[in-house]
Amino acid sequence: MADANKPKNLLPVTCAVCSESQNTMHGGFDTDGLPAGTVNCMVCGHVFQRDEYLRGLETRRQDFARMTGPRAE
Ligand SMILES: [Zn+2]
Repeated sequence: MADANKPKNLLPVTCAVCSESQNTMHGGFDTDGLPAGTVNCMVCGHVFQRDEYLRGLETRRQDFARMTGPRAE
């Protein structure tokens, strides 16, 4: 899936309703590279609250770090 407009450090957040990890974003991104507008679940249409989204994103980053190993930073 090639989406040139999506910052590389953003991972799809798992939906609390249907457990799918497919997000649709509207309204572009803010200066932190986070969605500036609404994030929806692509599957069931659930609207992520901002704190819910950020929590989910952190969880996904930790999962991803475990899968790929620590980065050299
Ligand atoms: Zn969903």
